[in-house]
Amino acid sequence: MIFDFEMIDSCYKLLDSKILEIRKKLNRPLSLSEKVLYSHVYPQNQIKPFKRGTDYVDFMPDRVAMQDATAQMAILQFMMAGKDTTAVPASVHCDHLILAQSGAVEDLKTAGIVNKEVYEFLSSVCNKYDIGFWNPGAGIIHQIVLENYAFPGGMMIGTDSHTPNAGGLGMIAIGVGGADAVDVLAGMGWELKFPNVIGIKLSGKLSGWTSAKDIILKISGLLTVKGGTGNIIEYFGEGAESLSCTGKATICNMGAETGATCSIFGFDNSMIDYLKATGRKEIADLAIKNRNHLVADPEIYANPEKYFDQYFEINLSELEPYINGPFTPDLATPISQMKTAVIKNNWPENVEVGLIGSCTNSSYEDISRAASVVKNALDQKLVAKSEFTVTPGSEQIRSIAERDGFLELFREFGAEVFANACGPCIGQWARKDSDNKRVNTIIHSFNRNFAKRNDANPNTNAFVASPEIVTAIAISGKLTFNPVTDTLINSEGKEIKLAEPKGFDLPPKGFGVIDGGYQKPDHGKNGEKIIINSDSDRLQLLAPFKEWDGNDFLNLPLLIKAKGKCTTDHISMAGYWLKYRGHLQNISENYMIGAVNYFNDQTNNILNQVTGLNDTVPRIARFYRDSGTGSAVAGEENFGEGSSREHAAMEPRYLGVKVVLVKSFARIHETNLKKQGVLTLTFQNKNDFNKIKEDDRIDISGLKNFMPGKQLTVNLNHLDGTKEKFPANHSYNESQIEWFKAGSALNIIRKSNKKNVT
Ligand code: SF4
Repeated sequence: MIFDFEMIDSCYKLLDSKILEIRKKLNRPLSLSEKVLYSHVYPQNQIKPFKRGTDYVDFMPDRVAMQDATAQMAILQFMMAGKDTTAVPASVHCDHLILAQSGAVEDLKTAGIVNKEVYEFLSSVCNKYDIGFWNPGAGIIHQIVLENYAFPGGMMIGTDSHTPNAGGLGMIAIGVGGADAVDVLAGMGWELKFPNVIGIKLSGKLSGWTSAKDIILKISGLLTVKGGTGNIIEYFGEGAESLSCTGKATICNMGAETGATCSIFGFDNSMIDYLKATGRKEIADLAIKNRNHLVADPEIYANPEKYFDQYFEINLSELEPYINGPFTPDLATPISQMKTAVIKNNWPENVEVGLIGSCTNSSYEDISRAASVVKNALDQKLVAKSEFTVTPGSEQIRSIAERDGFLELFREFGAEVFANACGPCIGQWARKDSDNKRVNTIIHSFNRNFAKRNDANPNTNAFVASPEIVTAIAISGKLTFNPVTDTLINSEGKEIKLAEPKGFDLPPKGFGVIDGGYQKPDHGKNGEKIIINSDSDRLQLLAPFKEWDGNDFLNLPLLIKAKGKCTTDHISMAGYWLKYRGHLQNISENYMIGAVNYFNDQTNNILNQVTGLNDTVPRIARFYRDSGTGSAVAGEENFGEGSSREHAAMEPRYLGVKVVLVKSFARIHETNLKKQGVLTLTFQNKNDFNKIKEDDRIDISGLKNFMPGKQLTVNLNHLDGTKEKFPANHSYNESQIEWFKAGSALNIIRKSNKKNVT
């Protein structure tokens, strides 16, 4: 079954004329990234030469994908827009809420009970609004998108950081917050700063133990976790063409670890093969017809230094396997140097668990190569010294891995096969026999390895490597083992060398036809009603935020002056709170509980100016809201950096925070706050931050003449009766000022739809 063929067909039909128009306007050679971006500029905007890294541009992506944890709030917001259906095709994937504990069958059963109301809500809402719904167990969002929805030259957004995975099939695919998804679902333009482009030429060819994963592990080390920020990474060269489509997807997936907006590969034969193998020959044929538009112009690849903002070359023939970590994915160590690094850094050498799979590395190629290592080990009478787990990326992959004997091989090896879901990759892992403080080492083929990402233990040293290297290291039980050079002793006392992994890009017997867990939407034909129990603690219908009352903000008590780093994790913590993502009131109980109070260096302990007593941030925010004053928040640099979760913006709005005044914002968080109707200001003089006292009352004046480029004024009313006044900057444009006045961006959409909100 080909999803949304008409939409894809019409994209390709329009591509010739769009590229012609872009060429006329830009009059210079085009990179692939530019071709895809310019051909997706929001129709009501003029095509003109946008300044990369500077201009904000509205785009119209072709589709939206949402995972279950983020979909709840995105869809609850979309419901407020008063639309009958989504403006572009969309899908929801139940993958994040399944705890890996006792194996796939048991874990899915438990998830079905624990998350019942969330799954039922998402299923019914998908039916009503014509959204594709993938049941729990169907697979991980990015794997499903690659297998079913991605197409060369397309553009999509997804409410998950690793959406760029679809770049392996030539798509600009960008991870966003729920608020951005709502914009696109509701038919509004989606704003993005026009990205810079990093060109990476891959020359040579992979061999032996080295795989696509090692390319991105090396690049993560080169660029670091910030080096890709604001950039698209565009890969090309004969090395790129030699990679499988799923190998390309692994590289694009983990491009997120460099902070890149997304990554993309040009259309080539590997994509044709993958599209055909996954039942999409018609799309492959359309892409072949448009081949010239799905790669950069030849001048770009001939002169990469001239056209790309940054340029690197990596020779795959010289690349060796990498192991990245612990605690950060950009600490890249070539495997030949691991012995030295382990001693130097005092990393625990014994590996307790090896984990393969996840959305990053669970292709047929990955599974078959890891399985070949297992088979070779079993044939040579080696057993795994570490525990070993497998998390297939989709039911499609799981079923053929079962059919072709790989899962049986893994089980024989002592592996536990978890459900087709995120599981240990996102901390949904009930790890056995683990206390929460013990120093230990694990190695996995996932993408992120920050402290507590996989289990709740901050002392788990998590390393990232390819599935085949993870497998070899699990066999040896040692982080220092290098299968390229080292030997092992088998159960008969013989010295053994593991054979190099061997696998298949695509399943020789085909993907087959399976029940992949897809629910086709019936667009409300069965009178689908969305029911949320009034006593539910997981889901809550939203009510529109109030319009601005037309007056300056006066006498706002300072809620918290946050000291130092204040990421979206500090503002709205994940972990335990994930389950409340569909319930604004409940999740607001985590507002700023991770932020450090400037005045006492403590978290979640601030002064209530009225009672004179200290209490938690959410409680005092509610107190100020309910007493009618609202409140103000102050912060330092890059406030709200991290994942673009909209809860971090909805919670302050819900709790009556009227203004957030900081030294600088992470742009996505600033936009999210604007969308929810919270006023965002920055100090003109950053030293003014020091003037704010714990018991200040704050006025913001100038709002009656709120306009782009015009400063507002902050008045601090100190408790001793003295006052201080200073200007503050804002970055609102005309339409964002309308969001502020209407109370939120969604209020404007709803009004324009002239429909009542249910
Ligand atoms: S498997 Fe991991 S990286 Fe992939 S979507 Fe799930 S949590 Fe995110």
